[in-house]
Amino acid sequence: KATVNVIGAGLAGCEAAYQLAKRGISVRLYEMKPQKYSPAHHSENFAELVCSNSLRSDQLENAVGLLKEELRTMDSLVMKAADSTRVPAGGALAVDREGFAEYITKSIRAMDNIEIIHGEQTGIPEGDIAIVATGPLTSEGMSGFIREMVGEDYLHFFDAAAPIVTCESINMEKAFRAARYGRGSDDYINCPMDREEYEVFYNALAGAELAEVKDFEKKMVFEGCMPIESMAQRGKDTMRFGPLKPVGLMDARTNQKPYAVVQLRQDNKNGTLYNIVGFQTHLKWPEQKRVFSLIPGLENAEFVRFGVMHRNTYINSPKLLDNTYKLRKNPSIYFAGQITGVEGYIESTSSGFVAGLNAAAGILGKDRVVFPANTAIGALSNYISDASVKNFQPMNVNFGLFNNFDTGIRDKRKRNAENAVRSLALISEINETVKNWIK
Ligand code: FAD
Repeated sequence: KATVNVIGAGLAGCEAAYQLAKRGISVRLYEMKPQKYSPAHHSENFAELVCSNSLRSDQLENAVGLLKEELRTMDSLVMKAADSTRVPAGGALAVDREGFAEYITKSIRAMDNIEIIHGEQTGIPEGDIAIVATGPLTSEGMSGFIREMVGEDYLHFFDAAAPIVTCESINMEKAFRAARYGRGSDDYINCPMDREEYEVFYNALAGAELAEVKDFEKKMVFEGCMPIESMAQRGKDTMRFGPLKPVGLMDARTNQKPYAVVQLRQDNKNGTLYNIVGFQTHLKWPEQKRVFSLIPGLENAEFVRFGVMHRNTYINSPKLLDNTYKLRKNPSIYFAGQITGVEGYIESTSSGFVAGLNAAAGILGKDRVVFPANTAIGALSNYISDASVKNFQPMNVNFGLFNNFDTGIRDKRKRNAENAVRSLALISEINETVKNWIK
């Protein structure tokens, strides 16, 4: 009898286990709690929300809102739990934290074909298929095993990333395209500053509020990757000799060398997203928006990801996984959740869903299910498996990752709403194919 081993009963692991078990497949679900807890987990329940109780927007014009609706359409356990335990939160979907985890724990425990095994795993148990879903704080023993399996260079323990903005939100009346000393055509978007603009920015940055650093993160080594605010604190001109150096760049419109320049580098293949070069930061998210919007050209920038510097175990998925979260070199092993480089509660759920569904397909002799990149579920699986991505960084779902439909609509909100309608139509078609799969 075929069995799937799911390691880690977090958001991704529970979703994967449910998708398998409801199709009649035997699952062994391994969870190290309550014998062992990560530094952020405290409850005995499965699918613990370790920080905020908000699952973010529930609006279809927002990519994470669309992702939720797609998962609802596909009968996601996590979404059922969220909808049943929601608390008032305006346009967001927030949940009663305890109620949410209890709903999922009870549902999983009530399924006859899920066997729950407590204790830390430091390898992959015998079985037909395995799904590794041990999360951003995977235990040391398991991390060691994963490092052996995928190679040292392909496992990261720390996420230090600069903010990412949408290209269309950059004001090109102020910014200009060029590469330093004219090398590499117009690869960068440059935001030039005069002395006054630089001083305003510098003062705001030096006085900005920092995010709380968790105790277990205080000892982290930053490996030469200094937060931009620390650089500012070293002296007024330090940034002008670092990432904001104005050398080799002439503002063609003024024909002058700027006093300082912030550069943005293309972040995805289709050029819809740009990251701010050298701006890894510890600043609180609202502070990032306030301070970085002072950069000329970024006044109205739409941030799809804020800068972070925190502990986060994740693999270099574009080199390792296919678009069903399966290990390319070993078709019986999937990864799921934040460890694959998706970021966020619902994104982790989505990857658990895709891995679980595809593991089920393998056992039931069905074709693999690849979600197209104009759906939110597919945009994420496409992102983590896109072998052309260099310098892979974990990412929340956002419309910049989509292969959007050609709607011809200019207004962003209306365009997103139309994209959502079309994505959901595709998702319903896929659901028709898989909803009656049963062993
Ligand atoms: P988890 O939910 O962490 O599940 C992994 C499970 O595996 C855990 O139950 C763990 O005990 C178990 N496990 C680990 N190692 C082993 C082992 N060796 N053997 C057996 N079991 C094991 N996202 C948001 O959207 N909003 C937030 O506010 C937010 N805050 C975060 C705060 C922190 C401190 C961290 C680290 C992450 C945060 N995230 C947040 C990111 C992410 O969404 C969550 O971490 C999410 O829970 C990831 O889901 P997961 O299923 O991948 O992992």
